[in-house]
Amino acid sequence: MLDINELFKDEYSVLEDARLATANAHLPADDCREKLWTVAKHYQRLIRESYRLITRSDRAERELNRMNEQLQQLAAQLEYEATHDPLTAVYNRSAIINQINKSLTQANVALILLDIDHFKRINDEYGHPTGDRVICALVSRIRRALPSGAAIGRVGGEEFTILLPDARIEEAMIIASYIHSSLNASPLDVLPQQLVTASFGVSLGAKDSDFETLYSASDAALYMAKKRGRNQVVLHEDFFRPPVSLRADPAQAC
Ligand code: GH3
Ligand code: MG
Ligand code: MG
Repeated sequence: MLDINELFKDEYSVLEDARLATANAHLPADDCREKLWTVAKHYQRLIRESYRLITRSDRAERELNRMNEQLQQLAAQLEYEATHDPLTAVYNRSAIINQINKSLTQANVALILLDIDHFKRINDEYGHPTGDRVICALVSRIRRALPSGAAIGRVGGEEFTILLPDARIEEAMIIASYIHSSLNASPLDVLPQQLVTASFGVSLGAKDSDFETLYSASDAALYMAKKRGRNQVVLHEDFFRPPVSLRADPAQAC
């Protein structure tokens, strides 16, 4: 700990000298001038020192602000890397699960599962790097079809989830069908010689249900799409049940 008396020993001694001089009415003028000169010298030195300290502290503050900014950028970058897929820049598995669960606390959520058809063949025929470019191009195609508020996640290698918060099943079917038609209408730029198609499973999760339930339903629909020959959109079977009022009432049968 700094001792202020020790630190400013010289200055206190000069001040004490000056105080005694002012109290001495008989001090010769030359002695007075000399003491005044000594005080002025010390005062000037203190101004110089203070200026140097202020400059140094300004520089330290600027450096601290710069480091703080860097730290915030690094934290944002880490947060981004922890939640995004490095190849496609869509949400990674855990991030999209969080998003879906969060959306389910607020409203119904529609989920489209999309899996590229025979993707292994694309890799085998054109190589893994082309396969990567196909995945990225397909994601760009999906992005163009989505409304604001929708989110894409990569849950597996060539399987993507499309989250439509607060959506109706009809909207989800329109969007899935639009992407499906778009893939069949024109090839991706990175593979102009052949169409890349996908199969789609669509379902709706009621508010306050959870990711697992919703994902299982979409996955079952996707499984049906693959089973029925791929390159198609399948709606989860729950949504084919007729409304209660339309069911045949045995009591009214003739
Ligand atoms: P299906 O129509 O039944 O979905 O057939 P598929 O060939 O698409 O499915 P399968 O699961 O047999 O193969 C998926 C392939 O996707 C296998 C895997 O090597 C490849 N894959 C997964 N992730 C990536 C990736 O990031 N880049 C590339 N190039 N290939 C990947
Ligand atoms: Mg596949
Ligand atoms: Mg797959």
